Amino acid sequence: TYVVTENCIACKYMDCVEVCPVDCFYEGENTLVIHPDECIDCGVCEPECPADAIRPDTDPDMERWVEFNRKYSEVW
Ligand code: SF4
Repeated sequence: TYVVTENCIACKYMDCVEVCPVDCFYEGENTLVIHPDECIDCGVCEPECPADAIRPDTDPDMERWVEFNRKYSEVW
């Protein structure tokens, strides 16, 4: 899965949401989030993010970001 990380805070661009083929972006408190179970790992959102906030969960130390994304995407 891909996850949204701290650089997303206060970013007003929604380019990532528009390109996602499965609509798995949700609105969190201060950031967008990606539902980890809905993301199909296509990677098309990553280069669209002007803040470089979208990372694959295979990057180091991503566990807490996966939990963060899960928590705020399951509010809805
Ligand atoms: Fe959506 Fe693909 Fe990004 Fe996952 S990697 S959030 S499926 S655009």
